[in-house]
Amino acid sequence: MQQHSGQHLLSAVAENKFNLKTTSWNLGESISYVEIDAPVVEFPVLKELEEIVNDKIRAAIPVTVKTYEKGSEELGKAHSRGLPDDHSGLVRIISIEGVDENMCCGTHVKNLSELQAIKIVSLEKGKKNKCNWINMLGSTC
Ligand SMILES: [Zn+2]
Repeated sequence: MQQHSGQHLLSAVAENKFNLKTTSWNLGESISYVEIDAPVVEFPVLKELEEIVNDKIRAAIPVTVKTYEKGSEELGKAHSRGLPDDHSGLVRIISIEGVDENMCCGTHVKNLSELQAIKIVSLEKGKKNKCNWINMLGSTC
């Protein structure tokens, strides 16, 4: 739950502030990674990204569930990979207040303070001109 919510936060800030899009991610028992659609990301960018996400964690920003009607204007603004053609009913959105809204059916923290901290501890070359941010999230790692 912590790592998954941390990935929401990290990916949202990376994309909104630095135009670094997440193309995939993996949550492991002790190490997680976020694959970024860029061949390399310079240290000052990573440092600023960490400062921003950790500021938001210290601010204990609420994480809430919202539901929107399919086709609504609000849903159109949320991050999404799209809905199956045969979807009916409300659509579940995870909102990190003022940061991001993302379609997701997973389990999340109630506010960002539960993450405690995000630290990107190393980088590795990813596949197809991408890079992986190896990160340690929360206190469970
Ligand atoms: Zn989620």
